[in-house]
Amino acid sequence: RMPAGAEMLFDGHDLSKWTGDHLDQWTVHDGVVTTGARVYNFLKTKESFGDAQIHVEFREPEQPNPPINPQYWGNSGVFPMGLYEVQILDNYKNETYPDGMVGSIYSQFPPLVNAARPAGVWQCFDITFHAPHFSGNTVTQPARMTVMLNGVKVQDNVALIGATVHGKVGVYAPHAAELPLALQDHGNPDSHVSFRNIWVK
Ligand code: MG
Repeated sequence: RMPAGAEMLFDGHDLSKWTGDHLDQWTVHDGVVTTGARVYNFLKTKESFGDAQIHVEFREPEQPNPPINPQYWGNSGVFPMGLYEVQILDNYKNETYPDGMVGSIYSQFPPLVNAARPAGVWQCFDITFHAPHFSGNTVTQPARMTVMLNGVKVQDNVALIGATVHGKVGVYAPHAAELPLALQDHGNPDSHVSFRNIWVK
């Protein structure tokens, strides 16, 4: 249930609060929005946010047959400020590298436990995000995140090393105090992730 003072970003009806370079390939059907592009892209809020509590429900697809690269199985992500990824991947019975698992701060911090549910079952992230602070080119307070996956704490107030970069430890670059929230479409055919009930406070 959405708490008082929160803003619904996707209530199942339309993407009126969202934008993106491949917006028309994110399809809304039966109250759910699903990735669909064949290229890596983001669905981004029109509005910008700094410190925020973020709620996102997601559902992983069944593994295609024949199986695909484990890293392509329902790969998505929630990016506060469009820069700091909380990984979405089907890791119910699908191993990957620790800081690439669902609930990881991607390429930085593995989840404390594997709280994944199976494909086809709705899951939920509750993320408490504190935006980084900058003075000139220097980060004076790193971004911090606490992440609950399916009600289980998987990140406990971790201080991020920097913005998310694939396969590397990211670095900070000064940015605005508020930026759009983004959802990742990893662009893998036949492995589309669905979302519902997305809100922010
Ligand atoms: Mg991802």
